[in-house]
Amino acid sequence: MQPFVYNALPSRVIFGSGTIVQLADEIKALGASRALVLTTKHQQRDGERLCEQLGSLAVGLYANATMHTPVDVTNDALEYVARTRADCVVALGGGSTIGLGKAIALHTDLPQVVIPTTYAGSEATPIIGQTENGLKTTQRTLKVLPEVVLYDVDLTLTLPPEITVTSGLNAIAHAVEALYSKDANPLISQLAEQGIASLASALPRIQKNPEDLEARSDALFGAWACGVCLGAVGMSIHHKLCHTLGGTFNLPHAETHSIVLPHATAYNSAAAPDAMARICRALGGVSDAAAGLYDLAVSLGAPTQLKDIGLREQDLAQAVEIACSSPYWNPRPIEADGIKQLLANAFLGRRP
Ligand code: NAD
Repeated sequence: MQPFVYNALPSRVIFGSGTIVQLADEIKALGASRALVLTTKHQQRDGERLCEQLGSLAVGLYANATMHTPVDVTNDALEYVARTRADCVVALGGGSTIGLGKAIALHTDLPQVVIPTTYAGSEATPIIGQTENGLKTTQRTLKVLPEVVLYDVDLTLTLPPEITVTSGLNAIAHAVEALYSKDANPLISQLAEQGIASLASALPRIQKNPEDLEARSDALFGAWACGVCLGAVGMSIHHKLCHTLGGTFNLPHAETHSIVLPHATAYNSAAAPDAMARICRALGGVSDAAAGLYDLAVSLGAPTQLKDIGLREQDLAQAVEIACSSPYWNPRPIEADGIKQLLANAFLGRRP
């Protein structure tokens, strides 16, 4: 056994079907009685229903959560927090809504109950990314780690199939990078492998039948496992590239992860053989991790080309430059030529 360091994060997790009925008790257990519910515009109706369910425990709904956590939206939400005198936030939704809850917690220290409805995994991390003036910066602080995570599989049944696929691949990316992280440790590596396997088996079943509760449950479990990996160990070139592409070029988060992942894996393949072996095993015994991830994405109908989701050829040079400046630790050294090739392959969707 290699020596390792492991930092556990404090978090209460409730997982199951129909768990949403426990929300009021969870809010009260935090000592709170004035919950502000957060959603995106798209999930406003779900937020309204949640407020009805909470009755007098809910003091308002802020339904303007936005991808990449723009600072102006956070400031607007903070005014609403002050006006409603909320004493906790309830984030119902994907990473965008959870990001807003974290941003509010960063400024106010309000406790958070988070109800994830995608597979992005933000609920399990002490990380917050915020965007201002076209640059996304992330920080790690326990102030933003949600106190309670309430997973209700039933709420994921409405996640549209295309978002299900890209969000699931986004989760897999956390586990892939955890396996070759500089902080890798046996517990997280085990969870990473399990998370990849769970999602890789669930996503095709959900595609066949989006209301398959067992497949949805496996996918949500996989998302939690992969989210824990993201929260526990440092990420590398894949996440650096995706933050660059999302923050600077406003590319959609989950699609960007889906497209870049096979190419980032290929970049690191020779430098991280143990991680690659585990990824191959989790994908059901494929012979090459990067090609296996690419084939999984293609079989699920995920986008494969950055040029199809809004990146322009003339943006590539700037993306390489940003990704190579202040790089995250990576098992293979960050070389501009290699990153240029990686992005060119992702731009055109070449199979690694
Ligand atoms: P998202 O939260 O923007 O959700 C995508 C869309 O799907 C939204 O319109 C949302 O309302 C809708 N949706 C969500 N769940 C649904 C459901 N069950 N049924 C119907 N519609 C539903 O997208 P995302 O990919 O989950 O999150 C992306 C954001 O999360 C990015 O800003 C990213 O940076 C952040 N993120 C942060 C971390 C972290 O640790 N800080 C981790 C992962 C992602």
